[in-house]
Amino acid sequence: MNWGFDAGGLGSATNPLRVAIVGSGPSGFYAAEALFKSPLTVRVDMIERLPVPFGLVRYGVAPDHPKLKQPTLVYDKIAQSPGFTFLGNVTVGRDVSLEQLQSTHHAVLFACGAESDRRLGVPNEDLAGSHTATEFVGWYNGHPDYRDRSFDLSSEVAVIIGQGNVAIDVARILSKSVDELRHTDIAEHALDALADSRVREIHVVGRRGPAQASFTSKELRELGELRGCVTGVSANDLQLNSACLTELEDKNNFNAARNVETFQSWTTHSATADDKRIWFHFLQSPVVMTGKFRLEQITLERNRLTGPPFGQLARGTGETLDLRCGLLFRSIGYRGLPLWGVPFDEAKGVFPNTAGRIGGAPGLYAAGWIKRGPSGIIGTNRADAVATVQSLLADLTHLDSRPREGTQGLYAAMARGNSQVLSYADWRCIDAEEQRRGAAMGKPREKITRVRDMLAVLGARPT
Ligand code: NAP
Repeated sequence: MNWGFDAGGLGSATNPLRVAIVGSGPSGFYAAEALFKSPLTVRVDMIERLPVPFGLVRYGVAPDHPKLKQPTLVYDKIAQSPGFTFLGNVTVGRDVSLEQLQSTHHAVLFACGAESDRRLGVPNEDLAGSHTATEFVGWYNGHPDYRDRSFDLSSEVAVIIGQGNVAIDVARILSKSVDELRHTDIAEHALDALADSRVREIHVVGRRGPAQASFTSKELRELGELRGCVTGVSANDLQLNSACLTELEDKNNFNAARNVETFQSWTTHSATADDKRIWFHFLQSPVVMTGKFRLEQITLERNRLTGPPFGQLARGTGETLDLRCGLLFRSIGYRGLPLWGVPFDEAKGVFPNTAGRIGGAPGLYAAGWIKRGPSGIIGTNRADAVATVQSLLADLTHLDSRPREGTQGLYAAMARGNSQVLSYADWRCIDAEEQRRGAAMGKPREKITRVRDMLAVLGARPT
């Protein structure tokens, strides 16, 4: 590739390429890594609205899956790269504008994820007792935005709408005993509430069939291995049409074939009275939630599949059934949020882009979920971020090459605001404090769940 690199030119030691990365989750760190691997001299300012880094790895990965958090060790190394600066507790659009970022940097790369949720669009979706999975996941993971949510876990029956890995995480956290969770980094407020949970029966409802469920087969199988919990599915629900059989014969679709095998092994089961139960239902879509003051029932409509293999859609049959429940989680996928000044695709909830170039033009870039939507595992974001950085580097000759102030310019712009900007060294202090608190409780860490308490840790830091 021709990098457009010359002495004194953009990307040289005297005129480093200055990139502002918005968001400090996986795709932000992988984008920073890819930029540092280029032969150019690069400076990266990573801007994060929370005081602490790591986005979905810290606040999305389930506490009982610590291995999935190991990428933070890589991110920590990337943060040590010369030319990397972390600016936590800074919200783009509030503390600093997009225009300011564009004036202090040669390029702005958005890696801000998908912070909102898709809507089901059924009546009474927001009835008390009906929550998004995002709220619940954020709450048990100690996300400051969800710290003060409360979940009434007094109902014996919970329903989860959607059949992806987030639905599995929610089902597993509801099913495990607090003794199994106690030594994870689950937030203590969540552990206390779960200790009093009366949830015993969890229904995981999909609008399409077992062959279309988007669970990863390993995660699904794990549910069948939980102590004191039985997984079940009706054999009737596993009858497959010819298009489903064609889908399962495709060797690239082995994950779905394994899922169906797992479901088949769950049609017979023996549960004791004490066991919790996770029940899978297919070909059912919510049509209305009802309840006088809070959720009491969900009405589901039976679906049938129409369309060719890999293009099958759920169509309602008009046949309905009612399911009594006092707790419900909508786990039907995340959605990106718009940002003033950046093009936004309302239907998809992403920043529309071509190979990471927002609006198809040089200057603004996207990586990760805000680029392609909420799909894939953490590692998927590496190739995605690398591809975006390749686009950025290929655009070098089209970027305004005048030297930029970078970090200093950003600090000067923000001096007009009130926010306390946190550095990576500040995160290290918070991290050490969380680990110290966790060690006292036999946990890897006890997350600090309020922004003011994070800032207080730094206030108490010896100077
Ligand atoms: P997902 O995998 O996209 O699953 C969303 C589910 O919601 C699908 O079953 C989808 O059904 C259903 N759905 C969407 N709209 C619906 C509607 N209007 N009515 C009923 N159902 C609807 O999303 P996710 O579970 O939120 O996960 C997001 C990403 O994070 C995924 O890539 C996932 O693998 C990843 N993740 C990974 C892990 C892990 O590796 N341990 C853990 C958590 C999350 P259709 O198929 O019919 O659209």
